[in-house]
Amino acid sequence: MRLLVTGGAGYIGSHTCKALAASGHLPITYDNLVYGHPWAVRWGPLEIGDLADRQRLDQVIQHYRPEGVIHFAAYAYVGESVKDPGKYYRNNVAGSLSLLEAMRDHGIPYIVFSSTCATYGVPERIPIPESHPQRPINPYGQSKLMVEQILQDFQVAHGIRSISLRYFNAAGADPDGEIGEAHDPETHLIPLVLEVAGGQRPHITVFGDDYDTPDGTCIRDYIHVTDLAQAHVLAIEALASGRPVPAAYNLGNGQGFSVKEVIATAAAVTGKRIPVQMGARRPGDPPRLVGDAGAIFRDLNWKPLYTDLAEIIQTAWRWHQKRPYFGKSRPPLS
Ligand code: UDP
Repeated sequence: MRLLVTGGAGYIGSHTCKALAASGHLPITYDNLVYGHPWAVRWGPLEIGDLADRQRLDQVIQHYRPEGVIHFAAYAYVGESVKDPGKYYRNNVAGSLSLLEAMRDHGIPYIVFSSTCATYGVPERIPIPESHPQRPINPYGQSKLMVEQILQDFQVAHGIRSISLRYFNAAGADPDGEIGEAHDPETHLIPLVLEVAGGQRPHITVFGDDYDTPDGTCIRDYIHVTDLAQAHVLAIEALASGRPVPAAYNLGNGQGFSVKEVIATAAAVTGKRIPVQMGARRPGDPPRLVGDAGAIFRDLNWKPLYTDLAEIIQTAWRWHQKRPYFGKSRPPLS
């Protein structure tokens, strides 16, 4: 299939392009390169453009005639979304709307949407099933939930079928070492911890150790990016087959690790000392997020290959050591 991949130059998008190509599909990346990297686009053409730019979007769609869409392009910094919600609603919600209207106008019949466990807010039970109430506690999660709801309305009104994939914490890097996580600024726990291990940062700050969890730090469900990528291939193929599918699937390992456990595992994997400083809670962080991904196991036969946290961190560490700044000090986080 020819597939338009918005945000295909980003972390999860680029790993998905690799997985799509391995399954015989052509990923056409549409990315404004605000956070994406041209070097990460290796398995199909790169078209530079913004989702809000309908003219450019129409031109790319007319040129390639994609049969489906996988939609990653979005801002994804939880903390920033709390401070600057307008940026998130404009880009994530209005941008998605522009894309969906283009799909409607060009008759593109299905879309896999990159959603998030942040749509659940503070969970009432763990592991979280897809049927759990969605009450996001930050504008990032709210923006993704709004798009999930718009997708439902577009299905009813225009017959555009969709699957929203609600990721827990994406982690790790391509096991072949071709691509990996390269956010700028970097705010995610595992890459930051590895930068400390690599000598680029003096310490890792733990955002709160007074949560109601066994060691007081937040618990998250880390899922390897290659496993996430494979789920997108299965989801778009399921939509193309015409079989009935639910509106959303969780993607997680079903196992939670605390911030302290992640740091200890990274120290063991890298063999480096990782100095830790305790800091304040980060606004918008629920104490515990662990997903139940049983539905996509059963329906689409998806099975994560990386269920061991040390192995996930190992792939990230291998990638990290190849980065140009490895061993050099990085500017402090603003
Ligand atoms: N975290 C932390 N220090 C950091 C970055 C993150 O303690 O420098 C914590 C954060 O509060 C959360 C967990 O690590 O509990 C995972 O955060 P990350 O930003 O990697 O992913 P998110 O949960 O926001 O998707």
